[in-house]
Amino acid sequence: MNQIADNIFLLTSVVQQLNTVVIIDKDYLVVIDPGFFPGEIAEIRKFLQPWETPSRTRLLALTHSHFDHIAGVPYFPEYAVLTSDAWDRGNERHAIRRLEQFDTEFYVDRPWEPGHLTPLTPQYAVRHGQSLGPFLFLQTPGHTHDSLSIVYEHVIGVGDYLSSLEFPFINASLKDYRNSLALIAGTVRQHSLTTLLSQHGPPAYGTEIPTRAALARNYIEQMCEIVETAHHSGWSWEKTLSQAPDVLFQNRPIPLGLIPAHERNLQTIWAEYAQEHTLSTRHPESGGSPGD
Ligand SMILES: [Zn+2]
Repeated sequence: MNQIADNIFLLTSVVQQLNTVVIIDKDYLVVIDPGFFPGEIAEIRKFLQPWETPSRTRLLALTHSHFDHIAGVPYFPEYAVLTSDAWDRGNERHAIRRLEQFDTEFYVDRPWEPGHLTPLTPQYAVRHGQSLGPFLFLQTPGHTHDSLSIVYEHVIGVGDYLSSLEFPFINASLKDYRNSLALIAGTVRQHSLTTLLSQHGPPAYGTEIPTRAALARNYIEQMCEIVETAHHSGWSWEKTLSQAPDVLFQNRPIPLGLIPAHERNLQTIWAEYAQEHTLSTRHPESGGSPGD
């Protein structure tokens, strides 16, 4: 476990550099996204043991319902699960399938039969702006509908936003995603936050926080430009998709392994643009669906 601030520790998984964050507060012991591989989870549980005193409320906070973020939940049965009250059951079902697919492909041994992970039961379903002890919860949808950010002292945990490893993954909605980026940036300024924890890769400190936000916005702007040009010029989806390799993130081309996620983003932005413009301006030549 790496200590990254007073009372805050990080364990980074070998897969996707997925972080588990542990916050050891006076009255609370909080685990944010409880790890992925059984060996790593065992290490986290061992680390937690001395701090699991009767006076501390034990919480398992989930930043969102993707499979890598929920895989560790059953290993912490005595922790109360905390999620956004917008928890997306459909996405969770999909995540359970995705986990089954991963575990059965790579022979990951779990203490349950493949596919028999039960949907979780949140004891705390938090609203936007709700506080609990020293924690403030913000709903930050866009990556998923149920994405949750957590503020503690001078630190904000933002789930899968603003990672140094990946461009924005816009799985739910571009509009929400942009609003959430603005909300996170505003919260950092307003509360003079110094540390930002993304759930994949290293934290951002100080001035690196606005730099990451600018890189995320720059990626989104490039994608929107393609989609706007496509709709105004009446491009087919295939022609639009052929522009995807021109988009850079951190001034570099998209890495091979992330191209499917990049193309999904373009599809999401394409569909959202078409929907908005059909409703408001009835753009006749912007037809066509973005493929399968
Ligand atoms: Zn995610």
